[in-house]
Amino acid sequence: MIPASFDYVAPTSLVQALEALRDHGDGAKIIAGGQSLLPILRMRMAAPEVLIDLGNVAELRGVFDDGEGIVVGAMTRYDEFLRDELAREHAGLLVEAVKTVADPQIRHRGTIGGALAHADPAGDVGAPALALDAEFVIVGPSGQRVVPAAEFFVDLFTTAVGDDEILAAIRIPKHTGWGAHYEKFVRVVHQWSIVAVAATVRVEDGRIAEAKVGLTNMGPTPLRARSVEGALAGCELTEEAVGAACASAADGTHPPEDLQGDADYRRHLATVLTRRAVLAAAGA
Ligand SMILES: Cc1cc2nc3c(=O)[nH]c(=O)nc-3n(C[C@H](O)[C@H](O)[C@H](O)COP(=O)(O)OP(=O)(O)OC[C@H]3O[C@@H](n4cnc5c(N)ncnc54)[C@H](O)[C@@H]3O)c2cc1C
Repeated sequence: MIPASFDYVAPTSLVQALEALRDHGDGAKIIAGGQSLLPILRMRMAAPEVLIDLGNVAELRGVFDDGEGIVVGAMTRYDEFLRDELAREHAGLLVEAVKTVADPQIRHRGTIGGALAHADPAGDVGAPALALDAEFVIVGPSGQRVVPAAEFFVDLFTTAVGDDEILAAIRIPKHTGWGAHYEKFVRVVHQWSIVAVAATVRVEDGRIAEAKVGLTNMGPTPLRARSVEGALAGCELTEEAVGAACASAADGTHPPEDLQGDADYRRHLATVLTRRAVLAAAGA
């Protein structure tokens, strides 16, 4: 289908982008890579009067070192992130997840910030961002605020970013030397996750010293498997011990039910995939 007609502006700075948002109010919509928004416009599920394209806002693009963490500009494309040395060294879990997003064409257009702002529960970047304790830098008319990952994902397709605000960057504390794995379960390649598990671990003296685990598509927002993380601390690196620690992965989750599987099936998948993800992250 052809989208409803709209005006188009392409600011070259964040200040200009915020001014455009203010000037056009509810009728405006930010466009980043367009990989989620354009299908929505084509299906006429949305009909904004104005698209504000962030593609020329250079300050929103790139990965930078800020000492304790790395800062990922919201307009950094998946493909740029995958090739970035800082990302690979300090945020391996997000790199592993991004590798599984869609196909090379979409990874060349889609952006890390666009995906996080879109907040599709089956999207692959939310759970790793949550597990890595990312912080979200949001700018708006009253300046900049920083929102922790635990407060960023509010509900289905809903984040802490207000209508008059822009997600500018994601800050990820360095997880240098941590093993990482993203275990994505799909029936056919390039599919969205039926369930996926993001796991990153720090191994010391043959045991798991620390573990962080995020779940994809086990509820309306990405989830953190805190009880598993607690059980994994100090855990021996054997299949049996890790399997036992991961048995509670689905506790407290509310997975969707659809043609890909019912809630019980997804709960079962979550425990199996968590064990696999943790063992792979630990190199066992
Ligand atoms: C065929 C297909 C398969 C896909 N498969 C997967 C998959 O397997 N896994 C996966 O994770 N994703 C998948 N995607 C989605 C893809 O990752 C999208 O690129 C991503 O969800 C959105 O990123 P974008 O940069 O294209 O954002 P856009 O589509 O441009 O924007 C998405 C939404 O976010 C808002 N937005 C964008 N940037 C900002 C910002 N900086 N501040 C505030 N709001 C903003 C927009 O207004 C819009 O509402 C797939 C998409 C397609 C078309």
